[in-house]
Amino acid sequence: MANYIIHISDDALMEMSIAALEAYVVADKSGERSKKEVETYGLLWGHEVILPDDDILYSVQKLTVDAMAYRRTGSVLPSEGVKVKKDMITSYWPQYSLLGDFHSHPYGHYSDVEEIKGYEFSEGDRKSMDNKTNDPDFRVSLVMTISSLERISNIQPRDISDSIICWTFNNYRFWLNACIIYKGDEDDEIALLPNSYHWKKKYDHPDDVGVYLHCPYLSSPWQITKFGKKAGKGKHIAGDI
Ligand SMILES: [Zn+2]
Repeated sequence: MANYIIHISDDALMEMSIAALEAYVVADKSGERSKKEVETYGLLWGHEVILPDDDILYSVQKLTVDAMAYRRTGSVLPSEGVKVKKDMITSYWPQYSLLGDFHSHPYGHYSDVEEIKGYEFSEGDRKSMDNKTNDPDFRVSLVMTISSLERISNIQPRDISDSIICWTFNNYRFWLNACIIYKGDEDDEIALLPNSYHWKKKYDHPDDVGVYLHCPYLSSPWQITKFGKKAGKGKHIAGDI
């Protein structure tokens, strides 16, 4: 079975971070911060690429925020209208395909997130994915968790797992977690990868399928396929065109 690589462009990372921050640090007209942080929701656009080893790359290029989503602190309901957005984008910007969706998890303090692994997809998230498998375009789901730190921190981004990255901007800590949505072997069941903290016991999947999240802005260059794989070993020489 193929591995999955989810690549997040700098633009998409910026759009997600700002969307999550906006829903976290809500200001009313007087500039007072609202007491309640809320979740936000959006759609992911980009490309699916089959790699030489039959691994699959999902290149997430853009996020469109769902301005009409019903947002609450512990949940978010997308608005209707995926179809019209898909029609608009694929008509005028056909270089982008719908890849999946994004939502945020707001938490007060970063220690709350670490204590309960709040960066994981919840059981509610998993249930909501049942509907998404009716649309074969939904292949990727991302959750961005945001919390506050008491002081500004400059610690380096770090991997929590192959599919979860944690980093800090000023006094906000972020986690980005990725999963793949696909129809399971049994028709009525959807499957998600990788096995998550919450789902591990109920939804067991083969261990040999990897899901790798890559955010170039947060890490050093990453060799997605072996260099020279297409040309053959030793075939690259100076002056080659
Ligand atoms: Zn969630």
